[in-house]
Amino acid sequence: MSELHDAIIIGAGPAGLTAGIYLMRAGIETLLLEKALSGGMPVNTERVENYPGFPEGISGRELMDRFAAHAKAFGLPVKEFSEVSAVEYNERMFTVKTTEGEFSAAGVIIAAGTEPVKMGIPGEDELLGRGISYCATCDGMFFRNLDVAVIGGGDSAIEEGLSLAHIVRKVYVVHRRDALRAQKIVQDRAFRNEKMEFLWNKRPVEIGGKGQVEYIMLEDTKTGEHTRVDVSGVFVYVGYRAKTGFLGDLVERDGSGFIVTDENLEAKTKGLYAAGDVRKKTLRQISTAVGDGALAAVNLERYLLEIKP
Ligand code: NAP
Repeated sequence: MSELHDAIIIGAGPAGLTAGIYLMRAGIETLLLEKALSGGMPVNTERVENYPGFPEGISGRELMDRFAAHAKAFGLPVKEFSEVSAVEYNERMFTVKTTEGEFSAAGVIIAAGTEPVKMGIPGEDELLGRGISYCATCDGMFFRNLDVAVIGGGDSAIEEGLSLAHIVRKVYVVHRRDALRAQKIVQDRAFRNEKMEFLWNKRPVEIGGKGQVEYIMLEDTKTGEHTRVDVSGVFVYVGYRAKTGFLGDLVERDGSGFIVTDENLEAKTKGLYAAGDVRKKTLRQISTAVGDGALAAVNLERYLLEIKP
C-alpha cells in the first residue's frame, strides 16, 4: 500500500525546497523525498556570491541550511535518505517508489538535480577516492601543500580551482580549448591567482599511480603530443548530467537527458513538473532554481484545483 499525499517533491535542493515553501503556504499537503540530506548541490560550494541578498557572499552550506529552515518553518515534511527508484502513472495518480516505501500523489515536482559526468578514461574509476574527486569542498583539505589538477573550463572547475588554491601548493587547470567557459569575473580572479597554471588545449587520457594518484597524462588537442604532469589529486568538473532514469517515458528528454517542459514547467505527463538543474534550460544557478521551484509549485497548485472532484 502506498502512502497518499496531495503533492510530492523529489529532491531537496534549492528548487525542491522553494517548491515546498510555496506549496505549504498554499495549504497543499506535500511530502518532499530526498535521497541523501537536504541542501542539494550548493552545499558543496564554499562561497556563493551571486545569490541576491548576500552582498558579502555566503557559504553554500549556510544558504541551504536557511532554505531548509524556511521550509521547516512552514511545516514541510522532508523524508531524507529516501532514494526514488521509479515513478509510475495510473489514472491521474503518480506512485513514487523509494527505498523507504511507496508514496502516491496527483501531482509531482521533479527537482532531483544532476550528477557529475565522468571523463571515462583509464584510472578514473580505480583511483576514485584515492586522489580523484568530484568535490573540492569535500576533499580539498586532503591535498594541503600538494599539487593538484582541475579538469574543465566552466564555472565549477574555475570556482573550485580557486577554492583549492587556498589549500594546495599548485592548481593545474586542464582545459581542452584555449578559452574558458566560466563567468568573466571568475576567470579574471583565476588569471590573477599565482597558484593557478593553465594547461590549454589539453585533454586527460589517463590518470595513474600505485594505489593513489601520482600523475595525469594529457594529450595536446592540436598536436596529439602526450605530456605527463605529476599531481597528487585530480578534481573533475566536466559537466553534470540529469538524474531522470527513474521516470521512464513519463518525460521527454533532450540529448543530454534534461527534462523538457513547457513554460509552466510541466513535463509531457499532466501533473508532472520539473524544476531546477534537472530541467532543460539555459542557466543553471541557485537563483534560477528558486524561480523554477516557485513556478512549478504555483502551476501544480492550479492543476490540483482543476482536477479536484
Ligand atoms: P559546464 O559549464 O558544462 O562546463 C564543463 C567544462 O568541462 C567545459 O569547459 C567543457 O569544455 C569541459 N568538458 C566537457 N567534457 C569534457 C571532457 N570529456 N574532457 C575534458 N573537458 C570536458 O559545467 P559546470 O562548470 O559544472 O557548470 C554547470 C552549470 O552550473 C553551468 O550552467 C554553470 O554556469 C553553473 N554553475 C554556476 C556557478 C555560479 O554561478 N557561481 C557555479 C558552478 C556552476 P568546453 O568549454 O570546451 O565545452
